[in-house]
Amino acid sequence: MSVSTLDIRVNKVTKSRISELNHDNIQFGKLYADHMLVAYYENGAWKQPEIVPFENLSLSPATTFMHYGQAIFEGVKAYQNPDGDPIIFRPYDNWKRMNRSAERMGMPDVPEDIFIGGMRQLVELDKEWVPGGEGTSLYIRPFMIAVDEFIGVKPAEKFMFIIITSPAGPYYSKPVSIFVQEQYVRAFPGGIGFTKAAGNYGMSMYPTMKIREMGYDQILWTDGFEHKYVQEIGTMNVFFVVDGKVLTPDLAAGTILEGVTRDSVITLLREKGITVEERPISLDELEEAYKAGKFTEAFGTGTAASIAPIAELTFHDTHMKLPAPENAEITNWLKSELSEIRYGRKADTHDWIVKA
Ligand code: PMP
Repeated sequence: MSVSTLDIRVNKVTKSRISELNHDNIQFGKLYADHMLVAYYENGAWKQPEIVPFENLSLSPATTFMHYGQAIFEGVKAYQNPDGDPIIFRPYDNWKRMNRSAERMGMPDVPEDIFIGGMRQLVELDKEWVPGGEGTSLYIRPFMIAVDEFIGVKPAEKFMFIIITSPAGPYYSKPVSIFVQEQYVRAFPGGIGFTKAAGNYGMSMYPTMKIREMGYDQILWTDGFEHKYVQEIGTMNVFFVVDGKVLTPDLAAGTILEGVTRDSVITLLREKGITVEERPISLDELEEAYKAGKFTEAFGTGTAASIAPIAELTFHDTHMKLPAPENAEITNWLKSELSEIRYGRKADTHDWIVKA
């Protein structure tokens, strides 16, 4: 199947809910656009996807993903460009990542026509739901669940791939305070840290509740052996500016998610001539640099937050407070550079933009 030949049946809503969207107060994840894409996988093949009105699913309580967690997802954003058209940021990277998650979770590959072709058609159909203001976007959530009606433990044979979308308001990135996690573990080599499997998020809820009670916003996960090397933040990759160089954990151990924003940031920094080192980064190294006055900026990167400045990193009895974000030169440059590209205001020299 190729994108052009894929025939997606469209069952349009009789009445749009677009009037429910208040452009002055868009609350992320509360309101979903009119339509969703649904595709079934059965007998070793994907069936023709359909675009249907956004509605509840009807599933047996014995549906396997509800019990054993064969469930993966992605997060992508569409923006309104200066011509008022919807553009999608780097969806091919999300498609490839989804299939890496699928393989590790024993789930089928999603073909390009369904993931990319289906997403483009869905966004085009619901383009009125792509908000226009600065900082706004249409959040796109593709996901796959195992839907065998069987509560025995075994790899499933039937799957559903669905795409839903939700308008997202401007993201006010108040600098986040980070608690470095040295008790609980997110991922270890050979595990599923590099995937967007539901279980990676399910397991994070309890540790996150605990650090929120202590007044922190997010967890910075560390390795599962010594709690010595940093991995990533809740839903963001992490970057540190030390001595004018930008450091970020490498992907070799398979314990962190290969963020699309992470890759964009590394690309933009290197093009600007700034050194980026992808390698193991220890807490000791950061603390030493902090004491020497060389650790000057830290930020998280992700589709939702874009670039989120970090105000403080805490571990043991160490509180590393970073300079106010106004002075975070690299963080601020990246934020505006990425924005220009995502909204199609700057030439797309990397082929990152896909028209809906
Ligand atoms: N790490 C984790 C665990 C995440 O959930 C996300 C969000 N997808 C990221 C990093 C950032 O990835 P991306 O830039 O592709 O959104």
